[in-house]
Amino acid sequence: MAVQNRKLDPDRAYNIAQEVLNELAAAIAEHAPMHSGHEGYAVIKEELDELWEEVRKKKQHPDRMRKEATQVAAMAMRFLYDVLGAGIPAPYHPDRP
Ligand SMILES: [Mg+2]
Repeated sequence: MAVQNRKLDPDRAYNIAQEVLNELAAAIAEHAPMHSGHEGYAVIKEELDELWEEVRKKKQHPDRMRKEATQVAAMAMRFLYDVLGAGIPAPYHPDRP
């Protein structure tokens, strides 16, 4: 299951990033923003614990692990987006020189 090749496969990475972005958009639509680092940490840990529950099963289900890992990544992105978003400069904006 683990990728052995050490060179980034951009298609594979793009598909994963798209999945994480979809999860982030759904979370933003459904739940209030993270108000603090403590709240964000707790949300990420909850998702990480759910991933661990899937990983530690004797019979692992790749789809369930993928779902939980995607949620971990999306909540880490949400931490950056909500808690630290103001401090992260956008790489490109049409109105910016
Ligand atoms: Mg979850």
